[in-house]
Amino acid sequence: MAGAARRRRTRGQVPQVIPLVVPELAGNEARYLQECVTSGYVSSAGPFVGRFEREFAAQLGAEHAVACASGTAALHVALRLLGAGPGKLVAVSDFTFIASANAISYTGADMLLVDSEPRTWNMDTELLHDEVVRRARNGGRLPDVIEIVHVLGHPADVEPLLELRNRFGIPIVEDAAESLGASWKPGPQVGTVGDIGCFSFNGNKLVTTGGGGMIVTGERALAERARHLINQAKLSDDQYLHDTIGYNYRLANVGAALGVAQIERIGDIMRAKRLIAQRYERWLAGLAVTPAPCAEWARPSYWLYSILLSAAVDLDSIVDAASVAGVQARRVWPPLHRQKPYVHTERLGGHVADDLYRRGLSLPSSAGLPESDQRVVCDRLHRILPTAP
Ligand SMILES: *Cc1c(COP(=O)(O)O)cnc(C)c1O
Repeated sequence: MAGAARRRRTRGQVPQVIPLVVPELAGNEARYLQECVTSGYVSSAGPFVGRFEREFAAQLGAEHAVACASGTAALHVALRLLGAGPGKLVAVSDFTFIASANAISYTGADMLLVDSEPRTWNMDTELLHDEVVRRARNGGRLPDVIEIVHVLGHPADVEPLLELRNRFGIPIVEDAAESLGASWKPGPQVGTVGDIGCFSFNGNKLVTTGGGGMIVTGERALAERARHLINQAKLSDDQYLHDTIGYNYRLANVGAALGVAQIERIGDIMRAKRLIAQRYERWLAGLAVTPAPCAEWARPSYWLYSILLSAAVDLDSIVDAASVAGVQARRVWPPLHRQKPYVHTERLGGHVADDLYRRGLSLPSSAGLPESDQRVVCDRLHRILPTAP
């Protein structure tokens, strides 16, 4: 432990803080990037994009994968392909990172925010199900698309949504940006049960391409239209002809080179995340905290290990105290209905999401987090947090 503390202080004058989540680039990343530079393929052309798409799809057990510039771009295209647009309504989780909602706003669609359920912190899909059934009976406005977010590495309970799709034909986008590798028991993996699944490869996500995203689908036609839209809706490679307003949302070969190297090590990354979660559960025992959720039907990927504190604790001062002690912790997101652009948005419920915000704290979760550093984190938390009554 002293060793770890010393190591963190040797790099400069300022004591190093154990970070919340940083990428682990321990495989072929440098080699593949060098190949991009040597070959000159650093932009849209080059072999790594196709290779990344194929290996990603294989990893997920999905039919088609289309690499994009970001997770937000993937969501934007997915929503547009499933019919989101002006005059349409998209139901989305209230408790999520704001990009989930911004992608809906880009399409011009209206939004219905749906509260979380305490079991998984994800959208209360029963609540949405019952509301849709009630509205259908009363001739109310139904969602045209449902965007379900799997937050913080835990799969959402999608059964009620699959039922809505069967009964009312409402398509599903999965925002799986934070939950690569998570699955239901015994399967399938998140991102593969909706009409389209979207992933992010931002620097803090399970796998990174610097910045990037992926669209995954079982339908060839959707994959082809996605590929068309992210490439400025260009009709041919040798003429400037376009049949609709598309986007410059392609992933560059350099990003994909990182992605291929990361996917080669996805098994190690997932194992590291699960081990980190197990250690937190063991080493935070005795404190007045609720561990990260894990439903009996779920196999979470623990992207960002997060706990709930008791309502009596002042979270901001905990974050400050942790920072002074060399540990970067961070509060979870305020629900969308508390964010300035979405305060007036229609919503169902909201109290559970508010409670998660009041009590939720994310802890250092890098796949490369050394055991000794995680010990330091837990020792510091034992000094800062109240013990269980
Ligand atoms: C990170 C994230 C996104 C957006 O991904 P980017 O690659 O950063 O654009 C979308 N939704 C959720 C839930 C995320 O965590």
